Amino acid sequence: MTADVPILIVGGGIGGMTAALALARAGFPAHIVERSPEFGEIGAGIQLAPNALRVLDCLGVLPRLEALAVRPRHLVLMHADTGQHLTTVDFGASFRRRYGYPYTVMHRGDLLAVLHQACQAAVRVTLESGREVTGLADHGDGARAAFADGGGYECGAVIGADGLWSTARTLVSGDRPIAQKFVAYRGALPAGPAVSADEFSSADEIIWIGPGKHLVQYPIRRGELYNQVAVFRSGRYSPEAELSDGWGTPDELDEAFARACDRVRAGVALINRDRRWVMYDREPLGNWTTGRITLLGDAAHPMVQYLAQGACQAIEDAECLARHFAARDGDVVKALAAYQAERIPRTALVQRAARRWGQIWHDDGPVIPLLRDRILTRRPPDDYTDLDWLYQDQPKAS
Ligand SMILES: Cc1cc2nc3c(=O)[nH]c(=O)nc-3n(C[C@H](O)[C@H](O)[C@H](O)COP(=O)(O)OP(=O)(O)OC[C@H]3O[C@@H](n4cnc5c(N)ncnc54)[C@H](O)[C@@H]3O)c2cc1C
Repeated sequence: MTADVPILIVGGGIGGMTAALALARAGFPAHIVERSPEFGEIGAGIQLAPNALRVLDCLGVLPRLEALAVRPRHLVLMHADTGQHLTTVDFGASFRRRYGYPYTVMHRGDLLAVLHQACQAAVRVTLESGREVTGLADHGDGARAAFADGGGYECGAVIGADGLWSTARTLVSGDRPIAQKFVAYRGALPAGPAVSADEFSSADEIIWIGPGKHLVQYPIRRGELYNQVAVFRSGRYSPEAELSDGWGTPDELDEAFARACDRVRAGVALINRDRRWVMYDREPLGNWTTGRITLLGDAAHPMVQYLAQGACQAIEDAECLARHFAARDGDVVKALAAYQAERIPRTALVQRAARRWGQIWHDDGPVIPLLRDRILTRRPPDDYTDLDWLYQDQPKAS
């Protein structure tokens, strides 16, 4: 059988574009189809930890990303209600020595633009936007992708990088995203006295945690913009109302932060209320692959964002996938089996840890917050032992 497309990547988000770049660099041509008319992202920030920067560096895009990004000097964890300082993570020289890369925050649109430019410049990557995949089928010696416009491709392999509501995932699981009863409002605004820090350095990332809520703040785009994400548990959530707009509303946002300290309320007041994001994840799967079709990124392992690792794990997936294609000389079935055997245990751990970390942040008390705050306030800023499992270079299977 002759494939129209050797490797089809469904979805031109962070995962899909990074996978295309990694495959191309390993010598494998990849074709991306994206259903949106444009390759782009919403106007909010994203945190990229050393485990993601390591991959992006190997793909040659790091210098262009760093020109647009911010390297926060610290992560400062504060109590949202009392304003108490809980702990600081020093992102300075000792952090960079330990992990080889800095901690970086940037505008999502900037990250997507750099990845898109790199894909356009790569000889082995081709892209199509405005094409939605509606069906996928493996038929042993190939896979077929069908499009909403009636067209289709025969493919040597398909990588479903189509996000939380993945079509590709329906081939391996009948599950659906699990609403965590939390909602986020987020956005970036021009940096300035109204939002930049007073007692904090303007290059710090600050996370305010408290019962049923948190607020994340950090500068992006060379410090020209300030990104905020306010997250809270909605009392109006019900499974019946899940897909409606009747819960997690802007008035609930204000209610959730009404008892927060002045600094947090001032930040929340500036957040755009036009759109909300429902916090979803899914249970880890034991299998991502059927024949020549597999999953990558949020399609494979959607997680709540409390460890800021969803995109970082998608980027790790991309490196791993390309490495196994190269190690098996393009034997698709063997490469996909090796890829998922390496990635499923790690991403399942991160998915579960992200949920637990959120529970610890948002606990209503009194016992868990008491213990949490006692442990955190005693932690020295350069104690990275709890971060090693996420940020250190991982052992690689061959
Ligand atoms: C509030 C919030 C904050 C976050 N912060 C961070 C952070 O700081 N750091 C971090 O690492 N992660 C963070 N994440 C998680 C991160 O955004 C995701 O994990 C990441 O975007 C996943 O990338 P992806 O490419 O797998 O999926 P997506 O970004 O969802 O991309 C999927 C793409 O596939 C396309 N698509 C979907 N279906 C089809 C189809 N049928 N045919 C063709 N195309 C299709 C979509 O249009 C989309 O472009 C955060 C998430 C949220 C909600």
